[in-house]
Amino acid sequence: MNSMYFTEEHQLFRKSLQDFLKKEVVPHIDAWEQTGVIDRFIWKKFGEMGFFGINYPEAYGGLNLDLFYTVILLEELQKINSGGFAAAIWAHVYLAMTHLNAEGSESIKQKYLTASITGDKIGCLCITEPFGGSDVAGMRTTAVKKGDHYIINGSKTFITNGVYSDYLLVAAKTAPELGNKGISILLVDRETPGISATKLDKLGWRASDTGEIAFDEVKIPLSNLLGEENKGFPYIMQHFASERLIMGINAHARAEYALEYALQYMSERKAFGKSINKFQALRHTISDLYTEMEICKEFNYSVAYRLNKGEYAVKHATMSKLKSTKMADEVIYQCLQFLGGYGYMEEYPMARLLRDSRLGPIGGGTSEILREILAKIIIDKKEYKPST
Ligand SMILES: Cc1cc2nc3c(=O)[nH]c(=O)nc-3n(C[C@H](O)[C@H](O)[C@H](O)COP(=O)(O)OP(=O)(O)OC[C@H]3O[C@@H](n4cnc5c(N)ncnc54)[C@H](O)[C@@H]3O)c2cc1C
Repeated sequence: MNSMYFTEEHQLFRKSLQDFLKKEVVPHIDAWEQTGVIDRFIWKKFGEMGFFGINYPEAYGGLNLDLFYTVILLEELQKINSGGFAAAIWAHVYLAMTHLNAEGSESIKQKYLTASITGDKIGCLCITEPFGGSDVAGMRTTAVKKGDHYIINGSKTFITNGVYSDYLLVAAKTAPELGNKGISILLVDRETPGISATKLDKLGWRASDTGEIAFDEVKIPLSNLLGEENKGFPYIMQHFASERLIMGINAHARAEYALEYALQYMSERKAFGKSINKFQALRHTISDLYTEMEICKEFNYSVAYRLNKGEYAVKHATMSKLKSTKMADEVIYQCLQFLGGYGYMEEYPMARLLRDSRLGPIGGGTSEILREILAKIIIDKKEYKPST
């Protein structure tokens, strides 16, 4: 692939990752999609290959590589067509571990970040609550200080890796009277008494576990606080930029996968005595869809370039998710159409792709919320600044 963003080393990494996924992951995907449980051995294999540590410091076993290695990891995970498997991996690496690395104390990093990089511990990030996800500041879970502990009470929902993870990063109100200025992020080990998790059934992302979690008098040491007390909201907002770019990259990659599959199918499928890729109506549709996908891809790479340079690219990352997830839904909807009745069959990849893609405009900030953020930046000239 020719691109101004990827070096020869990047391409070699892509090839070795593709080989690994084909050999170690693809043979199990259908089973994991059916059971909703990803076998634990694969986490360890990812760890051994170094994939969990590509953008984390060497001090904790990471490789400290540039962001385009992450772009490759995300793209290739989409191209094995299990949005759920991909989500389980990136929720661990880029939701949970991002907070551990950025705000965790040295002892938290030694214990949890190191084990997350080797694949011995799996993490999840718990922000959304049954009462609402978009209104992060309105969360009701509390963490009350008692002596040298916090006592957590409340509930979270729709949490990726919420049932099978080993630790949970929980956003809770440490000063409820202060609204969004009273939220903190706390590390809760799964072994702590008082946590119960229920697995949710859902339309897509079927290989990943999505959990509803209750915290009943969960007692954790004060040292499990991440960063400073009551700074949780800015920490969450800060990492939303990279999370949104991740979801934008996922979207362009699954759209590209859908188009590649559809093009192959259309070159083989015949109707009225010729390949269906000879019908002008379909050819023009392909041209439009490809254009949309490529524009999103190039834009997403440019946002990755900004983030890689340390720029706080909230506006561009928000645009990336808003536009790319819409594009992916439209591309995949149409690619399913190209396959006719086969597109609707589970034996072909489009049915799962369509289901998985639908989460794009919902998870990690709905499209409506993203438009609100952009309107504030564009119309009200609001400036978002990093918290650290
Ligand atoms: C499979 C899955 C995995 C997830 N993984 C995680 C995870 O790992 N961790 C986590 O914390 N969360 C996770 N989420 C939660 C996800 O981020 C939320 O679902 C999302 O933020 C929306 O919150 P909500 O579902 O409560 O919808 P609500 O906030 O109730 O919104 C309902 C509707 O109202 C609209 N709306 C709300 N406010 C406004 C407004 N101001 N203006 C216009 N429209 C508005 C929304 O756009 C939406 O269409 C996951 C969700 C799913 C489905």
